[in-house]
Amino acid sequence: MDEKLYDKILEISLKRSIFIPGAEIYNSVAGFYDYGPIGKLIKNKIENTWRKMFVKKHGFHEIESSTIYPEIVFKASGHAEHFADPIATCKKCKAKHSADKLLAENIGGNYEGVPEEELTKLIKANNIKCSLCKGELTDVAKFALMFQTTYGGDSSNIAYLRPETAQGMFLNFPRVFGTYQNKLPLGIAQIGKAYRNEIAPRRLLIRLREFNQMELEYFFNPEIDKTIEGYEQIKDEKIEIMGADKTNIEKLSVEQAVEKKYITNKIHGYLVFLTKQFYEKMGVKNYRFRQLNDKEKAHYAVGAVDLEVETSFGWTECVSLANRGNYDITSHSNTSKKDLSVFDDRNGKKIVPHVIEPSFGFDRLFWCILESSYRPASDEKKWEWFDLPMFISPYHAAIYPLVKKELLQNMGKTLLEELREKGLDVIYKESGSIGRRYARADEIGVAYCITIDFDSIENKTVTIRFRNDGGQIRVPLDKIYDMVCKFTDNDVRTLEDFEKCPR
Ligand SMILES: [Zn+2]
Repeated sequence: MDEKLYDKILEISLKRSIFIPGAEIYNSVAGFYDYGPIGKLIKNKIENTWRKMFVKKHGFHEIESSTIYPEIVFKASGHAEHFADPIATCKKCKAKHSADKLLAENIGGNYEGVPEEELTKLIKANNIKCSLCKGELTDVAKFALMFQTTYGGDSSNIAYLRPETAQGMFLNFPRVFGTYQNKLPLGIAQIGKAYRNEIAPRRLLIRLREFNQMELEYFFNPEIDKTIEGYEQIKDEKIEIMGADKTNIEKLSVEQAVEKKYITNKIHGYLVFLTKQFYEKMGVKNYRFRQLNDKEKAHYAVGAVDLEVETSFGWTECVSLANRGNYDITSHSNTSKKDLSVFDDRNGKKIVPHVIEPSFGFDRLFWCILESSYRPASDEKKWEWFDLPMFISPYHAAIYPLVKKELLQNMGKTLLEELREKGLDVIYKESGSIGRRYARADEIGVAYCITIDFDSIENKTVTIRFRNDGGQIRVPLDKIYDMVCKFTDNDVRTLEDFEKCPR
């Protein structure tokens, strides 16, 4: 693990309120983090970019469902039964260890999905002890990962905090389907919180007990919907993917990966490619796709491909793209005793729709973006900074009067008011040397610094400074808003980018 990078990002994050351990003044509980003002601004913009690419562009529908549901929902979804980690408890110090991770650390290999009895045998056969106190371990048992609660003061009314946002889309499917002319295919998406009572959360934002997801459920009729609009345009694009029974990465076109059955169908292939585009847009480059084998797949999945990113914590699963078949709608039909199948007038048949789901772990993505955009101090810039894509910079602009003179200050404040009024995120600072103010802006990845100087008074112009190379242009005051918007949309980071930006 690159401890330096990890430490540096943590240090800036705490200093600049990007993310902060939850309940910090009470020493925090592992697995809970808050986003501070800077983090929240970046988060909003990442979510909006996802929303544009995965929802709006395709005419899909975004919902916001409950985060707590009664037990029956998770009995139907299979989470009550399957959503658990195999745990071995230390007889001496009572520490709980994830059995598959314990084995992997001690004797290597991958034990995901191995039954408890086998894990117990392996632990005994290899004489594995508690990693904290060397005490004896108990037999491996299942530990439920959902947070349980009750509602209405009756302890028999059991409910759970949702372990994924997806169930909200399945429960709302019949209503949304009806609202939009009873037509398939149909996409329903959600961005929101989910909860997993992890035994040992660690690695900052990578493994959390309360986390954020961005999920899309694409409902379709497998008899008719063999492909998706847009597939033909991207089918020859290359992706790097590892087959479930392979040990090497292959560079394949989307179409080839579908033909080799690494990806279950063309719709799945299209969404894999869209995921690649999204990650590249976010500036994350060191990633690969990997097909999951039968043991690794979730209980509902017909087939699944993960996007993994090489972070300073090693290869980390960041997106899961699963073909959930008709598992969810079928289970909810059976459990609720309501017929959730739909009539498809294209072939005049009643069917249970199938679902392909891209599921993004938001917080992991956020971490990957910080890692890939972090830049240490160098000869060009004597301070560390974040090379964030401009459209996710926390602030569109920082406004700086060159010196503390009333005319400059007034002009700066008027511009500040105007840009904020129009919806931009802008900060204003008048103290400190201009160089130091630029450095503080770069440190959190502010897109553009706007400086008001004495010429500004004379001819109503200001300078815009490009973050990455410090290049500056002088522009009329009344063009600032349009220019900042255009530069942000076109990800203009340097003077050279500006020369190429369409006018
Ligand atoms: Zn112990």
